[in-house]
Amino acid sequence: MDFTLSRQHEMLRDMVREFAEKEASPQVLEIEEKAEFPHHLTKRMAELGLVGIFVPKAYGGGEMDHLARLISLEELSRVYSALGLILEGTQGAMYALLNEGTEEQRRKYLPPLCRAEKLSCFAVTEPSGGSDLAAMQSLATAQDDYYVLNGRKVFISLSAVADYLLVVTRSPNNYDAFLMERGTPGLEAERRENFLAERCLPVGEIVMTDCRVPKANLVGKEGSGLRTAMACVTVIVRAGLAAISLGLARGAYEGALKFAKERILYGKPIAELQAIQFKLADMEVAIDAARHLTYHAGWLIDQGKSSRELTTPIAKAKLFATDVATRVSLAGTQILGGYGLALEHNMINRLNEALAMVPGGGTSDILRVIIGREIIR
Ligand SMILES: Cc1cc2nc3c(=O)[nH]c(=O)nc-3n(C[C@H](O)[C@H](O)[C@H](O)COP(=O)(O)OP(=O)(O)OC[C@H]3O[C@@H](n4cnc5c(N)ncnc54)[C@H](O)[C@@H]3O)c2cc1C
Repeated sequence: MDFTLSRQHEMLRDMVREFAEKEASPQVLEIEEKAEFPHHLTKRMAELGLVGIFVPKAYGGGEMDHLARLISLEELSRVYSALGLILEGTQGAMYALLNEGTEEQRRKYLPPLCRAEKLSCFAVTEPSGGSDLAAMQSLATAQDDYYVLNGRKVFISLSAVADYLLVVTRSPNNYDAFLMERGTPGLEAERRENFLAERCLPVGEIVMTDCRVPKANLVGKEGSGLRTAMACVTVIVRAGLAAISLGLARGAYEGALKFAKERILYGKPIAELQAIQFKLADMEVAIDAARHLTYHAGWLIDQGKSSRELTTPIAKAKLFATDVATRVSLAGTQILGGYGLALEHNMINRLNEALAMVPGGGTSDILRVIIGREIIR
């Protein structure tokens, strides 16, 4: 068993860390306050090869593995989790196109997505409940050489900025996945939620009213939409959110440690108080454990394990890492005392960000349902 990262992974980590610290970090508070999508940072992430990191070079990607993707998400999110969420948000449709799309779809859509000239979103959740995907109501009806799509999606990351929307709908007999282009008549994707965290990231609604989508834009075989969606949810969304949560937790921990070493009470740094050391110790152990589960998930994906084999280990990684991000950022706010509530100390916003990691790709209890089923199988 070898736990060391390859030279390539280490170089990637250092490169992403430098970008996050030097270029992104000074802008975080302003971006968050303005709640405007950071197109310029997204383009920079594309220039660094991070958007299409797992996509083969033939389609404009970086042709690295999934562990590399998770390392990049972790490093970005250590500074600003919204950057990780932007990548994870656009990568879902890219993964579906790569694995289920036709050669024509891959050649047309993947290169501009890798360059971040275009952005995509991955739309599954409906008002009928993200936990109960089979209850979705959006419907695709075949007509001549196109499908007519009607329905509504909610809580979709990047909905208001995506040029390509991967939408999963019900069809008369099953579920299908389609790539819709912004500008399709009948498509509305402007309304966004007023969330407390990652405010630069539009998470919103997609309404489809008699949208005509060419049959050539069906992604995967007819009837395979739910399978395509679940593969994206597992490999891209859940594993991605585990890595983003891990990075977020590290950022909170490092901020709390720095504060504890600088804050003087009773004539010495509070880091010397054992109660503070206990908190720091728990934070560090939790982060190490979350990293092991998350990197193991990436390693399993890169071993080519089947969707079924990946489901439980990735569910464990996401369940644990999101919980760690919440616990660590809460402990961070406590260590900072009153400063923990001040936005400029970048701690209370991390707690809000950590809470936002929990529902995406399946709530913690849904992940427990998955793990529990496997335990008693
Ligand atoms: C920031 C953010 C970004 C998102 N991005 C996307 C995106 O890009 N694309 C997309 O498709 N979706 C996205 N989502 C939606 C997300 O996947 C759903 O919020 C999630 O699946 C939960 O669905 P719901 O909100 O409808 O809650 P519900 O499904 O209504 O669940 C409500 C409660 O019931 C509990 N529950 C449900 N079933 C069970 C059960 N069997 N046993 C025990 N408890 C249960 C849940 O745990 C939860 O506590 C995003 C959500 C957020 C918050």
